[in-house]
Amino acid sequence: MMEQRVRVAVPAPLFHTLDYLAGPLAIRPGCRVQVPLGRRQVVGIALSTPRLPDAPDQFTCRPVSACLDDTPLLPAAILDLCTWASEYYHHPIGEVFAAALPASLRKPDKPGRRKSKSGKPPDVTCVPAPAANEDQRAVLEGLAALPGGFSVSLLEGVTGSGKTEIYLQRVEAILAQGGQALVLTPEIGLTPQLVERFRERFGSLVSVFHSGLGEKARTEAWRAAHAGTCNVLIGTRSAVFVPLPRLALVVVDEEHDASFKQQEGFRYSARDVAIIRAQQAGVPVILGSATPSLESLYNAERGRYQHFVLPGRARAQDMPRLRLIDTRGAALVHGLAPELLDATQRHLDAGGQVLMFVNQRGYAPALLCHVCGWTAPCPHCDSRLTLHRARGRLICHHCASETRLPTRCGQCAGSTLVPVGQGTERVEDTLREQFPEARSERMDSDRARKAGELDRLLADIRSRAIQILVGTQMLAKGHDFDGLSLVGVVATDQALYSADFRAVERMAQLLTQVSGRAGRGITRGEVLVQTREPEHPQLQAWLRGGYRGLAKRLIEERRVAGLPPFAHLAMLRADALEAGSAMTFLRHAADMLQGRGVDVMGPVPAPMERRANRYRAQLLLRATHRAKLQTLLTASVHGLQSLPGARKVRWSVDVDPLDLY
Ligand code: ADP
Ligand code: ZN
Ligand code: ZN
Repeated sequence: MMEQRVRVAVPAPLFHTLDYLAGPLAIRPGCRVQVPLGRRQVVGIALSTPRLPDAPDQFTCRPVSACLDDTPLLPAAILDLCTWASEYYHHPIGEVFAAALPASLRKPDKPGRRKSKSGKPPDVTCVPAPAANEDQRAVLEGLAALPGGFSVSLLEGVTGSGKTEIYLQRVEAILAQGGQALVLTPEIGLTPQLVERFRERFGSLVSVFHSGLGEKARTEAWRAAHAGTCNVLIGTRSAVFVPLPRLALVVVDEEHDASFKQQEGFRYSARDVAIIRAQQAGVPVILGSATPSLESLYNAERGRYQHFVLPGRARAQDMPRLRLIDTRGAALVHGLAPELLDATQRHLDAGGQVLMFVNQRGYAPALLCHVCGWTAPCPHCDSRLTLHRARGRLICHHCASETRLPTRCGQCAGSTLVPVGQGTERVEDTLREQFPEARSERMDSDRARKAGELDRLLADIRSRAIQILVGTQMLAKGHDFDGLSLVGVVATDQALYSADFRAVERMAQLLTQVSGRAGRGITRGEVLVQTREPEHPQLQAWLRGGYRGLAKRLIEERRVAGLPPFAHLAMLRADALEAGSAMTFLRHAADMLQGRGVDVMGPVPAPMERRANRYRAQLLLRATHRAKLQTLLTASVHGLQSLPGARKVRWSVDVDPLDLY
C-alpha cells in the first residue's frame, strides 16, 4: 500500500528537504511537524505532500512523530517567500525557516493553536494627519495614481523632508480599505521615533517586531500579525518574514542602510526580500531614504522604480552649510583643528548644541612606541588593539579580546607609549578640557551597553542639559535634536583610501545623514568636515552636488569598473584554524567554477587574513547577468561540500555581498 509522504524542511544545514511518512496524519503545507533527524527530534515545516507512486526509496522514509498544527501555521505566501530566499541566497531551507520563525514557535512542546483576539472594526486615526504640503501632495497623488498591484517607488528626501508623513498617509489609506502594512526599519532600539509616530497616529493597530523584544512579545506580535489583528507591523530585518494575510503595502525606511543585510549565517537582504515579497503578494513597496543606495538610484534612473523626490525640509528651514577644514599643517589639539574648536565656541555662545562625529569608539585606535614604531597587536588577529583608557584596557574590535595596558614596548622595551588617532573617548576628554563650562558626553556602543543609558542621554540632549555630544554612527540614525546647530566630522579620509568599492558610498551616506542632524530646529545648521584631502574629487562632488552629485559620479565609476549595479556579485568565503586551508579549498572551488560564463576572481586572502585565530580567504564571482550567476551557484553549491579540503574549513556563500572582506 502506498503511504502518504510529506516533504519537510528540517532545521539542519541541508540544501534539500527530507521526505517523511505521514501515516494517518493529515498534514498540510505550512504545518509544523515533529520529526526524527538522526537521533534527535526536531521541529520542521511541512512543505508539500508529494504523490510519488513509484518512489523506490520509500523504505528509507521515517515516519512523522507528530503534527503540531491543525491548520497551517505558515501561509502559502511565507512558504513561497522562504523557498525563494533559500534558492536565491543558496542557504539551507530549514535554516531559512528557522530565521523566519520566533524561537518559541520552533519548540516541539508548544501547541500551534491559540485563540486570537477577535478583530476589532478598527478606529483608524488617533492624531489627525497634518495637511500635506505642496511637495508631499504631489508625491501622495503620484503614489495613489500608480496602477494597482506590484510596484516599487523610491522616495528620496533629505532628513526632515516629510517622508515619514508620506508613509503614515499611505498606511492610513490602506488601513481604511482593510489592508495591513509592513514597515521595515534598520533599527528600533536606537531610534524609537518611527514607532512613536506610528503609534501616535494609529494607536493599538501598531505592533513592533524586533530582536530587542523578549521572546514572548515577539511571539505575540507575530501571532497578532498572522491572525490579522495587528494592522501595521513595524520591524527590523526578520519582520520581513512575518505572515500578514491582508498585506497591502510594504515600506522600507532608510533603504540604503547596511543593517538590512544579515552579515552571517543566512545572509539575506531584508530590503531585497521585501521587494520580492511585495512582488509575490502583488502590492506596492515604498523605499525611502535621504541617501538611496546606488542600486536603487540606478533602478529609478532606468525606470524600473518610480522615483519621487521631496526636495526640501517639511518645515522649510534652510539646509545646513557644509564646509571642509583642511587639517594638513594645522595645529591639531588631539586631532581637532583650531577652526573646529572656534566654531564650537561660537555655537555654544549662541546657545546651540554641538555634535562631534567620530567613527571609532575607544580612546585611540593604536598605541605606538615612540622609540621603535611598534604598535600593540592583537594576538589573535592581523590587527592593532584599540586603547580604551577609561577601562584601562587594550581591546580588539574584531575578536573582542582584551589585555592590560602595557607599560613597556613589546619590541624594544621602551617606556614611551603614545596613543595614535582619535576615538570617541579621546575627543570627549579633549572637549571637556577645552570647554569646561559646557557638558560634553559621549554616545557609542560602549556607553549604550549600560541599561537605560541611551535613553538618559537622549533625554538630556533634548532638555539641553548636554551641550556637546560626541558619538559614532549610532548618532547618524533618525535622531531629531532641535537645538543642534553644529556638526563636526573629525575624520573621513579612511573611506577615500579604502579597498572596499562601497566605502565612499557609505561614507557619503553617513556624512549626509549626520549633516541632516544639524539645524532641524530653528537655527541654521553648520557642518564642518576635517580632511587631509580637501581637493579629493569625491569629497568635492559631495560638497558641490550633495549626496546626489556624488552618487551620480560613483554610479559612473561603477559602470566603468563593472561593479554593482552594473554587475552581480557573489562572495565565497572560507576560514580555517590552519593557515592555507581556506586558500586551498577556494582554489579547488575556483577550478570547479571556472569557465562557466561567470568571472571567477581569486581566491585571495581576506584583507585581514587572520581574525579570532582563523585564517580567512575569499573568492569573488561576478556576472553581468544575475541569471548567469544564479545558474552557476544552483548547479555548484552542493558540489562545494565534497571538494577536497571542504571538511577542514567553514565556508559560506554571500549573494549580493555588501562587505568585500
Ligand atoms: P523625514 O521622515 O523625511 O525625516 P518627517 O516626516 O519626520 O520627515 O517630517 C519632518 C518633521 O516635519 C516632523 O516633525 C513632522 O512631524 C513634520 N511634518 C512633516 N510633514 C508635515 C506637514 N505636512 N505639516 C506639518 N508638519 C509636517
Ligand atoms: Zn619600541
Ligand atoms: Zn583580535
